[in-house]
Amino acid sequence: MDFIDTHSHLYAEEFDNDRAEAISRCLEAGVNRLILPDIDATSRQGMLDMAASDPKHFFPCAGLHPTSVDGDYKAGLKQVETMLASGQRFYAVGEIGIDLYWDQTFKREQFDAFATQVRWAKELGLPIIVHIRNAIEKTIAALEPLADDRLRGVFHCFSGTLEQAQKAISMGFMLGIGGVLTYKKSELPSIVEQIDIQHLLLETDCPYLAPVPHRGKRNESSYLPFVAQKLAEIKQVSIDEVAARTTTNAEKLFGL
Ligand SMILES: [Zn+2]
Repeated sequence: MDFIDTHSHLYAEEFDNDRAEAISRCLEAGVNRLILPDIDATSRQGMLDMAASDPKHFFPCAGLHPTSVDGDYKAGLKQVETMLASGQRFYAVGEIGIDLYWDQTFKREQFDAFATQVRWAKELGLPIIVHIRNAIEKTIAALEPLADDRLRGVFHCFSGTLEQAQKAISMGFMLGIGGVLTYKKSELPSIVEQIDIQHLLLETDCPYLAPVPHRGKRNESSYLPFVAQKLAEIKQVSIDEVAARTTTNAEKLFGL
């Protein structure tokens, strides 16, 4: 089987003691390619180093994460702009978005940073990786005026309603599905059941949101098949078909 983890922070400090082993486990599990979403300057070098270490398996992105938007966000944006203009290949602008869960102090700045980065992605013909927390309606509303045939990407860790899923798809987005799909009280399975698999991507969001049976522990990209297995049960198809279909979706979106 050949999987793509479309959202992996395996470059994060949580893996500093055993990254090589985590990568081996990941390849053994058939998770052969990882999209590495950017967060901000504090962890960026790790992402770039990991991507440079093995360009066949690791694919870097550039973006300023909404929880990293503060009073100095213009400087953060400038760094992203410089990366995107550097000539190095980035596979998406992300992760970007709106997070009103932790702190709303820089709400206005978050929307500004988001719109700016969406514009850059469209100009460069890149997909966006959208992080949304406690803000799905507002994020959809922010994207609506920007929607055209150049706007595309993924609603990472999708956790909205069926109606919101359909709205996102109609604006050119795929839905990123991860460990939450395996959680007992999750409403995600009943929504995913009604969405054609052509709109779905698999992701771990490691080190966060580990799927059952590792829930609550550190997540890693090698756990992606647990999400795929659950999706196969929901869709009543084989895990091989889930792997093939979602891998094709990811190749198409990120130009792999
Ligand atoms: Zn992330």
